[in-house]
Amino acid sequence: MKRERQSPTGAADIAALQRQAKCKSDPGVIRPVVDASRCEGKGDCVMVCPYDVFVVGQLSDAAFRSMPLMTKLKLWAHGRRTAFATNADACRACGLCVTVCPEDAIRLAPFGGGASSSPVP
Ligand code: SF4
Repeated sequence: MKRERQSPTGAADIAALQRQAKCKSDPGVIRPVVDASRCEGKGDCVMVCPYDVFVVGQLSDAAFRSMPLMTKLKLWAHGRRTAFATNADACRACGLCVTVCPEDAIRLAPFGGGASSSPVP
């Protein structure tokens, strides 16, 4: 069953979330991993991350072609828009992006831990 999440709707909501966040790591230790088969590019992660780790954009043709079929179908339905963790080195593992993502598409993983990667533009 899909979890229901309430997106932050305004600057006050986002500021309140960021005040409550506790950084659990130095930069360069933990990174967010975006599951492109779930992400719909809504951008809640962009709004909430205190360290500007994410951008939302459209996958390049080459990146799109490299995706598995089911992921391609999902991406196609959303105009190939997805989140990119372009500044993953800055992540401090506060977990806000994981908490607010309405599609449950983000998890945190150690750098160099062998976990799959976020999509690249
Ligand atoms: S856990 Fe998510 S919101 Fe927090 S710093 Fe890392 S990428 Fe940004």
